Amino acid sequence: MNRDLVKIQGFGVDSFDFDEAVNYACTHSGQIVTINPEMISTALKMPDFANVISSANLVVPDGIGVEIGLKILGHNVKRIPGIELGKALIVKFSKDNKKIAMIGAKPEVITLAVSNLKAEIPNINIVYSHDGYFSDDKEILAEVAAVNPDLVLVALGSPKQEFFINSLKAMIPNATMIGLGGSFDVWAGVVSRAPKIYQKLGLEWLYRLSKEPKRLKRVFPTLPLFVLNVCKERLFQAKC
Ligand code: UDP
Repeated sequence: MNRDLVKIQGFGVDSFDFDEAVNYACTHSGQIVTINPEMISTALKMPDFANVISSANLVVPDGIGVEIGLKILGHNVKRIPGIELGKALIVKFSKDNKKIAMIGAKPEVITLAVSNLKAEIPNINIVYSHDGYFSDDKEILAEVAAVNPDLVLVALGSPKQEFFINSLKAMIPNATMIGLGGSFDVWAGVVSRAPKIYQKLGLEWLYRLSKEPKRLKRVFPTLPLFVLNVCKERLFQAKC
């Protein structure tokens, strides 16, 4: 299976559907980025982060923003929620008794997330876990590399988690690694995922906003500006 990338705001996004993305991630090592408009807007201002995204081994559109953006540009690519891709990878890797490492979230959250996953998924083999509030990246990177995991899940928020994974990639090139934002909080049961109807309508961001109004600063003006920039990109495409 080869990658078939479509471009948005200068960034390549894989056009796999959910099952294809899972299969690809299970058969190819490296960094998986679950991209959203906030990350694109950060990357446009931060060349180091743009390089990390561009050198990722799989980039999936996480959320409705990038799906709509791609639609405007004429690409029909469905969103792949990072939290679902992450869980599907855990299940697949666990079937083969592969080694899993988890880094991120508050100490009590990571502990709960690990025990819930252990109760839910037979054969799960979590060989390393650590909360996401550490001061020395190097120490944690070395600890993770030492256990040589096959799958690494990192939930430090963006772009921190993408930089962390990028550093780890050089140390354990055979591992599959994914940045998962707030997923551990959901798996721990301390944050609830949006009800199915919100998920279906692509309104998970609205649900999260209603639960954490301080996210408003992050969603606005980033989201409308992103759509505006994509419309400009579309106009430019049409002229060329
Ligand atoms: N987090 C962490 N270390 C930090 C900052 C954040 O482990 O230094 C965790 C935080 O506890 C939460 C997740 O990273 O579990 C951030 O989730 P969020 O949904 O805010 O991610 P984003 O939307 O920024 O990707």
